[in-house]
Parts: sequence; C-alpha cells; structure tokens
Amino acid sequence: MKKKEDLSTKSIHFCRRNEESTSQKIGSTHPPLDWSTTFSHHKDTRRLVDAFQGRTKSFTYARNSSPTVEVLEKFVTTLEDGIESACFSSGMASIASLFLALLKKGDHIIVSQYLFGNTVSFFKTLKRLGFDIDFVNTCNIDEVKKHFRKETRFVFFETISNPTTQVPDIPNLSTLCQEKNVISIVDNTITTPFLFQPKHWGFTFSQHSLSKYLAGHGEALGGSVTDLGNYNWDEDENIIEMYKERSCLSKGIFQIKKKAVRDMGPSLSPTAAARILTGSETLTLRMSKHMENATAIAHYLEGHKKVEKVYYPGLKKHPQYEIIEKCFTGASGILSFSLKGNCDPVAFLDHLDIIIPATHLGDTRSLAIPVAQTIFYEMGVAGRKEIGISENLIRLSVGIEDTQDLIADIEQALAHQP
Ligand SMILES: *Cc1c(COP(=O)(O)O)cnc(C)c1O
Repeated sequence: MKKKEDLSTKSIHFCRRNEESTSQKIGSTHPPLDWSTTFSHHKDTRRLVDAFQGRTKSFTYARNSSPTVEVLEKFVTTLEDGIESACFSSGMASIASLFLALLKKGDHIIVSQYLFGNTVSFFKTLKRLGFDIDFVNTCNIDEVKKHFRKETRFVFFETISNPTTQVPDIPNLSTLCQEKNVISIVDNTITTPFLFQPKHWGFTFSQHSLSKYLAGHGEALGGSVTDLGNYNWDEDENIIEMYKERSCLSKGIFQIKKKAVRDMGPSLSPTAAARILTGSETLTLRMSKHMENATAIAHYLEGHKKVEKVYYPGLKKHPQYEIIEKCFTGASGILSFSLKGNCDPVAFLDHLDIIIPATHLGDTRSLAIPVAQTIFYEMGVAGRKEIGISENLIRLSVGIEDTQDLIADIEQALAHQP
C-alpha cells in the first residue's frame, strides 16, 4: 500500500500540483500574486450574472474572494484534512467572523476560560450585546457538562492556551460535543495541523491565526476557519433559510463567506496570502526545531535557582501531560516561567541579547514578554491572580536559533538578577 503522504511533502508541492493555483502554462511553482479587486467577464455577462446568482463560482470583487486567497484556502483545507476553508485578514477576524455569521438570538456558548486575551475580550463584547456566554474550565469535563443546556449551540477552546499552557480534556470534549451535536471550534493556532488534527476527533471547525506558526516569520497577518466535514448542516437551525438549499461543500463556510467576509469585509490581502503560503512550506521543519529548543530551555530553567516555576506541556510533570501524549505529536514552542520573589522580569528582559522583548509568537526569532505588565495588564492584579498569572511571569515564544546560543543568552540575563 502506498504510504500516506507526509504533511511536509503535501505542503511543499501543494501549489504546483493544484492546477487552478499556478500559471500552468509557464510551469510556475508558486501561485501568481493577483492584485485585481474586480474581475470582469466582459465577453460573457451571463457568467457574471451566474456568479451573482450562485449558479457558478467565479470571482467578482476581491472583498468576497480573490485568486491568491483562494489558493491559501485550499491549502489550509488540505493541511487540516477538511472540506472547505475561509481566510481572513487576521486570527481575530476569523474568530469574530465565525460567530457573527453563525450565531442567532438565544444561543448559548461555552468557551474555555483559558484563552488568548483578545479572544476573551471579543467574547465579552458578544456578552455585552446580549449573547449568553459561559467561561468554563475545559480541563475539567464535569465543569463543561454542568454548563450544557438545551440552548447550547457552540463550544470554543484552544489546544494549548498561552501563557500558562493549559490543555483541555480533548478526548472527553470530543465525545461530549458529538453527543450533544453542537458546533465545536478548535483554535489550533499553537499546535498547528502538524501536531494536532481536530478532524480526527470529530470537531466541527479548526480555526487559526495564520500570523503565528503557519506564516512563521512574523511578516504576514492572517486567519482561517476550516469545516472539517464532521458536522451535518442539513438540520442546522443557524443556517439561514435562503442558504439551506444551496449546493456547496460546507453550508457553514458558505454562510461565513456571505454574512461575514462579504458583508463585514475582514478580507485577507493577496500579498499576505502569498507570504503565508511560502512561509507554510517550512512548517514541519520549523516546528521540530521550535520544540527541540523549547524542551531544552524548559529543562534548563527547571534546574535554575532563580526560577520559581516552568510551564511547558512537554514536561512530564505538566498537569495535562497524558492528554498531550494521547492527542498531540508534540508540545509546540511556547513556554512560560516565573522568576523567584525579588527578581524583576522587566529588567531581566533588558539583559537579553538574542531573545527579543516583543509580543507575538510562532516567529522564527525567539520573543519574550513580561505577561502581567503587558498582555494581561488590563485584567488587574486580582484578575490575574484568579487565573494563576503571577506578577513575574515571562512568556517565551521559542524561535529556531541555535539551542545553546539561546540557553547562554538566558543564563547571562539571569546572572544579572539578585
Ligand atoms: C494570536 C492569536 C490569535 C489572534 O490572531 P491574530 O492573527 O493576531 O489576530 C488567536 N488565537 C490564538 C491562540 C493566538 O495565539
């Protein structure tokens, strides 16, 4: 039997093999970067009419869709082994679009209490608009079960949350979400399809900030939502009547493309799409090095007398290590650590030479940020304490530099601490 092709082979040869995505005539191996905002069918107005009336699929206006972005959508679908994807101008745009397109009055949403800060803030906005949202500890399946009601329509969680690396109870969430027939959304940004395949656990959508590991080099913003083909939209009450009869790959993605991408305009630029496609070709290589470095740094920090605690899901003593072993093929490249009592995380970062004090993650460069003073500042001391964020916590997005260079950099910066 022919071996199933590895993700690395698939991603490197995707564009070349996808006839619609390259200039086949001249054998280009990358997709052409198409700048047009409008697409004319001037010799065949019937096609224009058909496109508007949904009988054929062709490009009309780039806010709705455009050729280079469509290649990326097909690429993400391949990586996730899904049926159809939509791409967006950022990861936040993908989360907002999904909910604004599919929610209806009266829906109840269960979201993990351990989420990316801006995602929490977005769900609070939905709450302010009157939607019923519960922030729940998804590491504890009994807590999740307790919050389920007949109005529950959506469950949203991240695979590994940052900064303190909680991992939800994925096997039990998988069973529960399918039993209850809810729309389940996995933010797969930190794990990427290389480390976790939400499709094989029966979830509805996989969602990404493509700006992180997928693009990989800190020079393109983007987001995506992929329908994994596990959910039956035929009976779904959140699909608008008019769209129920449409023949399309995914009614969920169809509605997101109409009600969010077309009507709200969170559209991805062709330039960013092309950059993300090129960056993604080295995803598996980069992830392997990110993890090799993160593991070495986590072990080094664990043994350091000025370090209070290390959070890295690749460590055996991580509280959800069993789930990581069972569901993921690696623990990704984000780790956090808190410094002991009288150390100063801001001064520590000033002494780093290679590691850059900056927000963002999933970059080839190592980046570090003092958490309480920056990304979790708005929450206040009490709020941070409640979710276990200490005042001298540092988040490290481990890059792909030489392992020993990174450890030496941390070592000399720690030497300046009392
Ligand atoms: C960064 C991030 C987002 C938001 O993505 P942007 O592309 O920055 O808008 C969402 N979820 C997770 C887990 C992230 O790390």
